Amino acid sequence: MSAERGARCTRSGAHDSEQALPPGARERGEVLLCRTFPCGPLTAVLPYEQSRILYGGIPVREAVVSVLDRVTQDTVRLELHLDDPDCQFDPGRFMELQAPGDEAGRAYSLADTGNWEGRLEFYVRLREGGHFSSYLADRARPGDRLTVHGPQGAFGLHETGLRPRWFVAGGTGLAPLLAMVRRMAEWQDPQPARLFLGVNEPQDVYGLDELAAVAVELPGFRYEVCVWKPGPGWFGPTGTPADLLAAALPEPGGAAPDLYVCGPPAMVDAVLRAAASAGVPPEQVHRERFLAT
Ligand SMILES: Cc1cc2nc3c(=O)[nH]c(=O)nc-3n(C[C@H](O)[C@H](O)[C@H](O)COP(=O)(O)OP(=O)(O)OC[C@H]3O[C@@H](n4cnc5c(N)ncnc54)[C@H](O)[C@@H]3O)c2cc1C
Repeated sequence: MSAERGARCTRSGAHDSEQALPPGARERGEVLLCRTFPCGPLTAVLPYEQSRILYGGIPVREAVVSVLDRVTQDTVRLELHLDDPDCQFDPGRFMELQAPGDEAGRAYSLADTGNWEGRLEFYVRLREGGHFSSYLADRARPGDRLTVHGPQGAFGLHETGLRPRWFVAGGTGLAPLLAMVRRMAEWQDPQPARLFLGVNEPQDVYGLDELAAVAVELPGFRYEVCVWKPGPGWFGPTGTPADLLAAALPEPGGAAPDLYVCGPPAMVDAVLRAAASAGVPPEQVHRERFLAT
């Protein structure tokens, strides 16, 4: 999350991840607002709608684990229920989750839309030896109480008329994009929508039932899944989601779509290059990188 600089603020620029704030942006005077503290009155120009600004701080609440489902060998679908059923957020947001008795939090994108049942849905890729991954793989049980900080973030749908919306996901990067297409289905948005999902191997494919359910509800929604390292049993597209996107762009006779991209940093960067080569204006490309948190 970068934004124009204000006056009189301290920032921890030297320690910021270059993935989050590239050197060029730093030289232009941009800062990461989430790591910046005002020292006095300042004026900031923020590239967000006013409704995205939190005045009361990030909500911190408790939630109970209700579902733990291994959807692939290394991906867990995690469902939590907040004590408070008021669970409103825009699709694309993430929450920081803390395991019971744990100080360290990790960011996970919400896969479902806001609701009045207190339901929070996440897809977590388990990383070998990872802190939160080990909790989920070894110790987590339905009924555990987690601390959740959020919703947070600025990734989300942009209103740009009837321009097509294309979504490009790598692995669990599907989560926030699933939330967006689910919201489009709920609201019966008229924009044509396509989603490209890429995974490493055929056994890593997940989310097909959820995508099929959106396709039933949302006319004009199409999705494709590709596998980077196909085995003998895979008959679908091969390669990365960046390859799928490059093959689909530019759409003959059509306006360049708005792109929503989410996944590992290298995959997001490959998609950005494919979009730039095909002439998609940078302001039409919105992305969330799953950096280590
Ligand atoms: C805004 C945001 C949203 C995110 N949403 C999701 C999500 O919906 N689903 C999901 O699975 N992950 C998501 N992540 C990544 C997540 O926050 C954690 O970084 C990841 O789950 C690893 O946490 P851990 O505690 O298991 O591993 P850690 O103990 O933090 O790390 C274990 C090892 O894995 C490496 N590692 C950690 N994270 C990554 C990474 N993202 N890429 C490559 N190597 C890594 C570390 O360098 C370390 O070597 C998101 C990250 C961000 C910034």
